[in-house]
Amino acid sequence: MQLNDQSLFRQQAFCNGEWIDAQSDQVFPIYNPYDQSLLAEVPDMNAQDTQVAIEAAAQALPAWRSKSAGGRAKLLKKWYQLIRKNVDDLALLLTSEQGKPLLEAKGEILYGASYVEWFAEEARRAYGDVIPGHGRSMRILTIKQPIGVVGAITPWNFPNAMITRKIAPALAAGCTVVLKPAEATPLSALALAELAQRAGFPPGVINIVTSNQAAEVGEELCRNPIVRKLSFTGSTRVGKILMRQCADTIKKLSLELGGNAPFIVFDDADLDAAVAGAIGAKYRNAGQTCICANRIYVQAGIYDDFVAAFQKAVGQLEMGNGLDEDVVIGPLINQAALDKVERLVKEALAGGAAVLTGGEAATGYFYPPTVLVDAKPDMAIHREEIFGPVAPVYRFQEEVEVIELANATEYGLACYFYGRDYARIWRVAEALEYGMVGINTPAISTAAAPFGGVKESGIGREGSKYGLEEFMEIKYMCFGGVS
Ligand code: NAP
Repeated sequence: MQLNDQSLFRQQAFCNGEWIDAQSDQVFPIYNPYDQSLLAEVPDMNAQDTQVAIEAAAQALPAWRSKSAGGRAKLLKKWYQLIRKNVDDLALLLTSEQGKPLLEAKGEILYGASYVEWFAEEARRAYGDVIPGHGRSMRILTIKQPIGVVGAITPWNFPNAMITRKIAPALAAGCTVVLKPAEATPLSALALAELAQRAGFPPGVINIVTSNQAAEVGEELCRNPIVRKLSFTGSTRVGKILMRQCADTIKKLSLELGGNAPFIVFDDADLDAAVAGAIGAKYRNAGQTCICANRIYVQAGIYDDFVAAFQKAVGQLEMGNGLDEDVVIGPLINQAALDKVERLVKEALAGGAAVLTGGEAATGYFYPPTVLVDAKPDMAIHREEIFGPVAPVYRFQEEVEVIELANATEYGLACYFYGRDYARIWRVAEALEYGMVGINTPAISTAAAPFGGVKESGIGREGSKYGLEEFMEIKYMCFGGVS
């Protein structure tokens, strides 16, 4: 891989300001999902390596948290500028290890950087309160303090942005961090660490533990009492394991977990906007995002027109190497992802669903953009997160019926609907049991807004003013004897 700045291509872990190997000297390979070629080998760290990183973060904590908010903000701003300056290299690394089209990768880098900028600004706004006292001589005051050492675990589908969304608010709050990136995509994390080092973050403030022993490293991050907060993005299955493991040390937790997003089109929707929105909400990152539309419900009056226009638009999506211009659908991340998509489609077809376009795996890890109709709510494809470029379209008649269907899931991350009736917009938005609602838009992700889910989609919010609070504790001071 030829980068403009080859020193962004790191094959060592980052701990206490140094680039290091695993104590065992073990490494594991990183492959390009486009052609399975070997990209790199990085240290395969274990619980002992993780402990070392946690201790480094603990040592760095006192100086970092006592730095002024402005001082922390200055370093975050510098990091932000360096990320933006190196967007081309970071995008090339990201596409190579993750597969998404280069344009999307660039979009992710800029989106990821926007969290660093946002929290550089929020660092200065960690305000407390002055509260009327409970007696004439009493005064009440609150301050916010960094929670301490943070453990962070991130997934492969956004190898850059899921990291900055956690690290930036943690650093802004005055915490230090030990991060384990996904096994499949550590190169983006290491490049971010290289830029953080250049920005001037002191040793130990950011530590990156690369590993393909996720369970062991994760357990250390959960059970180690020095770590006071765990922030995780990934599957609901793993989120539950981590929550259990964090119970013994009563760790503060943020969990950004799976989704099963409904995308509803009412009869009065703007058809073109709804089709464009469904394409955006479904096929970004080849359907591998937690907020991807998983179930498209279309009201009977507009169903035929929608399906025809949607099928036509899907047929125009170019699939291939993410590095090629015009490609908008890359490969899936690995064989397991492909197997899951194939299983869900095959089961749906066996149960009476029909394919309008796509529907058969291509070569390598590629699955073509697919549209299905006549799937049923009791099918696995309706219940499970598809995490691939397959769009099942369901017909519905009444508003109450679609709200019931949309809410009949253990997930509650993102949902979308298109329609123009003002009263219904409010009714439906309030009735949907989700953390985020896109109304006439699929573009709900921004550093300015609180990202997160309800039910089994998670706990806590990332981004916005609320994102900083996840890494802070409120301390209450009670003053007596004021006369
Ligand atoms: P995953 O299997 O849960 O993995 C996520 C991270 O957890 C990876 O770093 C993984 O390491 C690690 N991990 C796996 N097993 C672990 C264990 N026992 N203990 C500690 N860590 C463990 O999820 P994924 O397949 O990578 O990502 C897709 C999922 O993430 C989807 O469900 C998606 O909806 C969700 N997601 C949610 C959001 C959100 O904001 N809500 C955003 C993006 C993705 P390895 O890579 O080494 O296995």
